[in-house]
Amino acid sequence: MFTTVSSHACRHGQGKLLLRLLVLKNARLCNSNSSIGKGIRSYATEHAHHEARIENIRNIGIIAHVDAGKTTTTERMLYHSGRTRHIGNVDHGNTTTDFLPMERERGITIQSAAVTFQWPPKSVLPNGQESKTINLIDTPGHQDFRYEVDRCLPILDGAVCIMDGVKGVETHTERVWQSAHLSNIPRLLYVNKLDRDGASFKRAVQEAAARLKTWPLLCQIPWWQKDEFVGVIDVIHEVGLRFSKNSGAMTVVPKETLATHNPALKDEMEKARLQLIDKLSDQDEGIMEEYLERDINVSSGTIKKAIRRLIIDGEAKFTPVFAGSSLTNIGVQPLLEAVVDYLPNPSERPELRLITGSKTVTFSEFMETAPKKKGAPHQKPEPVLSVSHVFKVVDSGARGLMSWVRTYHGSLSRSSHMWNSNMHVFEKPQNIMHVSAKDYHDIQTLPTGHIGAMTGLKQARTGDTLLTFPGHQAQAPEAYRSVRIKAPETPPAVAFISIEPYTKTAGDKIVDALQRLSREDPSIRWHKDERSEQLILSGMGLLHLEIAQDRLLTHYKIEKETAIWGDIEVEYSECLFAPTRPHHHEYDRALRGVAGRAACAVLLEPLEACHHDTLLESSIERDGNVIHVSIPLPEDTDELPFDTETVRQQLFNGAIAGLSRGPRRSAPVRKCHVHITFDPEKDWSKNSTGGHITNAALFAVRAALKEAHENAQVGILEPFTNFTIHCPEEASHAIQHDISSARGGQVMEVRKPEEDDYSGSVDGQGGERIDLTRVYVPPDPYEGVQSLRDEGKKMSGSVRMLHIMGKAPLKEMMKYDGHLRSMTGGRHTLTLDPGEFELVTGPREKALALEG
Ligand code: GDP
Ligand code: MG
Repeated sequence: MFTTVSSHACRHGQGKLLLRLLVLKNARLCNSNSSIGKGIRSYATEHAHHEARIENIRNIGIIAHVDAGKTTTTERMLYHSGRTRHIGNVDHGNTTTDFLPMERERGITIQSAAVTFQWPPKSVLPNGQESKTINLIDTPGHQDFRYEVDRCLPILDGAVCIMDGVKGVETHTERVWQSAHLSNIPRLLYVNKLDRDGASFKRAVQEAAARLKTWPLLCQIPWWQKDEFVGVIDVIHEVGLRFSKNSGAMTVVPKETLATHNPALKDEMEKARLQLIDKLSDQDEGIMEEYLERDINVSSGTIKKAIRRLIIDGEAKFTPVFAGSSLTNIGVQPLLEAVVDYLPNPSERPELRLITGSKTVTFSEFMETAPKKKGAPHQKPEPVLSVSHVFKVVDSGARGLMSWVRTYHGSLSRSSHMWNSNMHVFEKPQNIMHVSAKDYHDIQTLPTGHIGAMTGLKQARTGDTLLTFPGHQAQAPEAYRSVRIKAPETPPAVAFISIEPYTKTAGDKIVDALQRLSREDPSIRWHKDERSEQLILSGMGLLHLEIAQDRLLTHYKIEKETAIWGDIEVEYSECLFAPTRPHHHEYDRALRGVAGRAACAVLLEPLEACHHDTLLESSIERDGNVIHVSIPLPEDTDELPFDTETVRQQLFNGAIAGLSRGPRRSAPVRKCHVHITFDPEKDWSKNSTGGHITNAALFAVRAALKEAHENAQVGILEPFTNFTIHCPEEASHAIQHDISSARGGQVMEVRKPEEDDYSGSVDGQGGERIDLTRVYVPPDPYEGVQSLRDEGKKMSGSVRMLHIMGKAPLKEMMKYDGHLRSMTGGRHTLTLDPGEFELVTGPREKALALEG
């Protein structure tokens, strides 16, 4: 029917905006003609991007539940921007961003990968216009790799959250949405997989409103021809966009053509536009005025500006929604347009916040107040040339350890002498690079707002802050010494594997690899069990540890035969039932031949929810415990004879070490609130070393735990997991019975997705209620066909499915997928989401006592 639309589109040119879309339509064509060579194009042709002006940069992440289509969408973006010549496919293991052998074998993303490309492609832009440089991070979706998402999100300026059009909002969609919320990241929603049987744009949008608690602003509606998904309707520009399934070439179909061939769709488009304008004019004065003046003919430019203003604070009270099917090349170019149009550049983000002592202040507040030279309060502030944040450390093999950084202030150069304010050392990089998937390109400087990687930093870890100053000093200026950007928290480990090397040489090699592995991924931890001499590697779950083991064998070249590898088991931990009394400890032994002493008092209590609400900025949260340090001023002085930040860190380290082995099973202690009060009165002239201070805290914590155990106040915790099982209705009874009777779990809800009710209202992110009945969504194509919806009948040829949700011990669920397979014939999906640590009681405690 639309074979001639392309020429129609040219004849019915609709001013500048349509021209822009036509330019995009040609984008792919021009690029493939100008591409040289195969695969990802060489950096030399593209590297000008590191000079991009800050307004032209978009640092974005793609976030979603596993399998929603993040990697597929990224791959299509690279292709349509001209960055690659071939479309890689997750199912064929040849995508650009999933480049690790393990990712290609398993078809999943394990590590987040960065890619850089230009949009719109330079080749299609008129002279003088610059394209935007998009630095995109494709993130993993599996819960075991959530630390990987959490460490990348804070350095991004915007995110595209992808939803599976069949499955709607899934467990991790909610989780990553929440993580983005914590970092105030402006977001777009993209409903993917609309080509699939059973896809429902309507349900996806309603679920987004109800579960992500955001008001959906429909910028597009899907274009279904019968029940085939063929393109999208751009509600703002009032055109249809059709795509060729193989090449993704886009055809712009003007409103007039739509009116002739598909009047119902044209009417729906007008309805959608009116709904959008109506909602926007409630919120935005600019649009309100134009609305009143010109009735419904509000210009697309005005609408876009209003949307941008509404989402830029990252509160996600409103979220622009787009539609597509990345696998069949539908909707990707307009999604890229949306990234450029709606997501902020780095200079539009809230100001950088810095932690200094027990306070968090903005960068300008900090510059105004803190950094004057001691004894010269009227002098100008001491300058800082750059502030940047290490968000990831990767062992790249040939190039050694690479520290990924994002600059927030000033620029980094190869000659920079960088102060690591967490490690308290100066370091100099060997190289600074731009990274695109597995390709690197050396650059001289990394300006403000950019993302890059450095080699040659021996000490930098994930979360560290790097500062540079004019000249070459031996020490950082005092006011800057411990200034830090907030580091991501590492979640407590829930599973472990034991490794028992046969020889000392093998053991040394494994220890070296473990050190490097946990430096790359701080959510992997290891220690040597003092009793069994085994090396214990712990992490976030079965998959995480399988992958860690794989990496030890393949990347770090550990020979499997040199050690006995245990099974992956859940990690139990210990907790307190009641507060301890204060324990004072004075440590005054010589340490490595150096005399000294240090003292502190420690009080432990069970961690309560209220401790999180009142979490002080000077507290740290680590492995499920909250540690708070107070450092009182010694009598008769108004100036401390030591650096408080250094002392605080040493006390934290001591407490963390003390909590790592509980008194009952030598298992880590969790859910504990620790107060440490430093005792500076004790004879400072006797030189306390860092080791003395750390040991004072360590021994005080151990003494407090020991006494609690003697008083029978220590319990055992086991990690629980929240599960969602999507299964055929006929298997659901047996599954529910198995979980509650044989697995020690609890079923909390059984849902039939198509019976979800959206007639109520929910509390929106911004505090306002969202009345779900007022959320506009166009009808799905099969809605008119009653038989498909009839109770008991099969939908689009598939079986009626149910969602079973609840919680159960992780130990029982870690390998439950295999068990479910026998109950459902493989027609299920199981999603596990981290739960709480719960107290082991009754028969489970008895069984555990027998085990260990
Ligand atoms: P990720 O885990 O979010 O990165 O998802 P992937 O990109 O790895 O995709 C997961 C699976 O969904 C793969 O088998 C893809 O081929 C498939 N997929 C992705 N996008 C689409 C789509 O638009 N339509 C269909 N039918 N399948 C898709
Ligand atoms: Mg992926």
